[in-house]
Amino acid sequence: MPEGSFQYVDVSVPAPLDRPFTYSLPETLRHRVRPGSRIVVPFGPRKLTGVILRCHDEPPNLATREALRLIDSEPVLDAELLSLGRWIAGYYCAPLGDVLRGMLPLASEIHRGKVWSLTDAGRDAARQLLLDAAPDDPVARILAMLEKRPLSAAYLSRILPLADKAIRSLDRKGFIAAEDVQTERDPLRAPATRLRVELIQSEPGPEGTPSGSGHSVPSLPDGKLNKPERELKAFLELHPGSHNLKDLESMLAHSSTAARSLARKGVVTLTAETIGVTAGAVRAPHTLNPAQQAAYDAIRLAIDAREFRAFLLYGVTGSGKTEIYLNAIQAVVAQGRGALLLVPEIALTPAMAGQFFSRFGDRVAILHSAFTDVERTDQWRRIRSGSASVVVGTRSGVFAPVRNLGLIVVDEEHDGSYKQEETPRYNGRDVALVRAQAAHACVVLGSATPSLESRFNAERGKYTLLTLPGRIEARPMPAVELIDMRQEFLETRQQATFSRKLIEAIGQRLENGEQTIILLNRRGFSSFVACRACGERVQCVNCSVTLTFHKRDRRLLCHYCGYAEKVPSVCPKCASDHVYFLGVGSERVEEELHRAFPAARIARLDRDTVTGKRQYETILDGFREGSFDILVGTQMIAKGHDIPNVTLVGVVSADIGLGMPDFRAAERTFQLLTQVAGRAGRGSLPGIVLIQTINPDHYAVRMAAAQDYTAFYEKELAFRRAMSYPPFTAMANVLVRSEKKELALRMSGELGMLLTPPPEKLRVMGPAEAPVPRLKAEYRYQLLIKSASRIALNALLQKVRAFAQERKWPATALVIDVDPLSLL
Ligand code: ADP
Ligand code: ZN
Ligand code: ZN
Repeated sequence: MPEGSFQYVDVSVPAPLDRPFTYSLPETLRHRVRPGSRIVVPFGPRKLTGVILRCHDEPPNLATREALRLIDSEPVLDAELLSLGRWIAGYYCAPLGDVLRGMLPLASEIHRGKVWSLTDAGRDAARQLLLDAAPDDPVARILAMLEKRPLSAAYLSRILPLADKAIRSLDRKGFIAAEDVQTERDPLRAPATRLRVELIQSEPGPEGTPSGSGHSVPSLPDGKLNKPERELKAFLELHPGSHNLKDLESMLAHSSTAARSLARKGVVTLTAETIGVTAGAVRAPHTLNPAQQAAYDAIRLAIDAREFRAFLLYGVTGSGKTEIYLNAIQAVVAQGRGALLLVPEIALTPAMAGQFFSRFGDRVAILHSAFTDVERTDQWRRIRSGSASVVVGTRSGVFAPVRNLGLIVVDEEHDGSYKQEETPRYNGRDVALVRAQAAHACVVLGSATPSLESRFNAERGKYTLLTLPGRIEARPMPAVELIDMRQEFLETRQQATFSRKLIEAIGQRLENGEQTIILLNRRGFSSFVACRACGERVQCVNCSVTLTFHKRDRRLLCHYCGYAEKVPSVCPKCASDHVYFLGVGSERVEEELHRAFPAARIARLDRDTVTGKRQYETILDGFREGSFDILVGTQMIAKGHDIPNVTLVGVVSADIGLGMPDFRAAERTFQLLTQVAGRAGRGSLPGIVLIQTINPDHYAVRMAAAQDYTAFYEKELAFRRAMSYPPFTAMANVLVRSEKKELALRMSGELGMLLTPPPEKLRVMGPAEAPVPRLKAEYRYQLLIKSASRIALNALLQKVRAFAQERKWPATALVIDVDPLSLL
């Protein structure tokens, strides 16, 4: 580690530029700088927080500016993480500055935590621009608002759908400057507290009874409450349990004030909640069954050898993969090393974390995006200091500064949430492998539906395949039945959401006091609004997609950019009043279930009912505890939950994902159906699964119904081989975008020329319109590049980037997505 005195530092700044910049150091900083520490430097008219890459005394050729302030006395990124960052920048063709920013603690908040104000240039521009710009132009609106006073980025993005983009462009032009409120604050000063609010029950039901008859509340007449208070009370009645106040604020206006006044009136309780390390009761580990033991033994040997080895743990749903993770982590910890467990975004719940606390106590750190900055910084420090050696986190958890890393487990390795859908577009699972390799650590990738890539890597011997073929305690796999909805229509002459069979099965569960999960992988009430007279479908103003009708909010919503408008009473195109709603979403499924089963207690889990992580947990906990009979939801409900009383899983339509213009459509459908089917029959009661479909012969649907992963893998692999898709080729999606159609078209044309004829070993498809040709007000064209050689592909992509820089394309115009998961 370089100690001593230096005159210069090379700094990677969070800007889409590849090279580091050299700054001179003021006397006061010369002894204190270290690679991996954050430093504030001037950059054009702005101040940026960058990361020191190198400290040296080599005078640069150009005049340098002086660094302003050192943030960390101890590096936040050690040599291992810095080199991981370099690998990501190279492999994913992303600017190192953007990569390193994403690896820093609180990375995601840095942008949001800023308070923006106008620069002098911005004031001039505002005067000019406000004269000619359209009044609803987000850039103009932001300028107008900032003219009055500085505003936080979080506030701006809440009130303007496209604020983030507008902010970036204003920032680039030097019209606005940010005060970084994040780094200024000392995280240790504030206690890690938050508030939870819960309705006071005047007549609490007997403890543990699953079917209480509603929730009684104190008889304070509602008329004495003001509107926010009434709304909050009504919400709490509908959603029993304790809620995080911050989450509520995002849904109900003034709920914070209302909660405090309701607490004074004795209607609700407010409790401070400290998330930190709460060691639960220590649970005795299960004795592994023979299949678990064999898998664990194999992993254990590699752990003891202290060498890099990668395992693919393929275990059917309910086969007890978690127990193996726990044991492997324990083995690593016993050696004095650290372990990292990555889980999909939505799966990181307190129930899940609880298992780790109970096994490892205060050695556990949880990295969760729902935590406050203070809490996350706190966890990060505990990891860094070595006091936490077991880390559970989502995608970016792969950058946790775990000391002496011995093991990384990636649970549900096939999950799409491991892929970051913005620059740098890395896949956390793949980064985990690279990080482990450098650290001589082991990797365990676990799934009941491994991705084609991972399974193929196991076939090729890159990973060792470990299999858990059956469920714990030899519980049967659920019986799956396909219901052909075309046949159902012929027989009933009705276009119904539910088949007779599914309705009957739900009815039986209600009678038996068993629970049902109903999946429909589309939110909203109906998927589009159309006009019978002219055929017009109401589209988003920013994107070439139809708007979805959300009944509760009485508005049409764009699921891509968040644009919303009122429901039209007449057709916006021809003014006919024959507008009608088409397609079924989860909100409508819930409503129809209420109608069919008025006495049933139904909860819905999708991105409309879950705006914060806490609500997700509240609904799920309620379901687990038996407060609901039926849980309706989108793919959110398919992920790893273990609810023993669920004996029926119904899939309203298996077909939604199949029509997507994406070569992974079949794989995703297979994974979703298999995973959701796996939610049934996990307790002592056997479960059944009913899948409604109009494609009963499609292999993904058929093989999911048979729960035959191996058959699916082989069939899909043959298709990928025939079409030269991954895992047989490396693939990248190169996309150009601009608000101006001509510009987007021109850029794509220029790229087309650059890549004609394609270099050897490469195949280029396009340029063509992207499947969603216009998104967030930008026109988009794409080229798909396939190559048998990664090196050749990477070289070509670097050439594309250099070309864009040479032509001075705007920084956000070119998107390079290596190993893309979504081609939309
Ligand atoms: P998976 O992740 O493979 O779907 P889980 O790890 O959730 O499965 O395990 C399913 C259930 O079986 C859990 O409730 C778990 O506690 C239990 N379990 C795991 N291993 C054993 C074992 N060896 N003996 C008894 N129960 C076990
Ligand atoms: Zn019309
Ligand atoms: Zn939109």
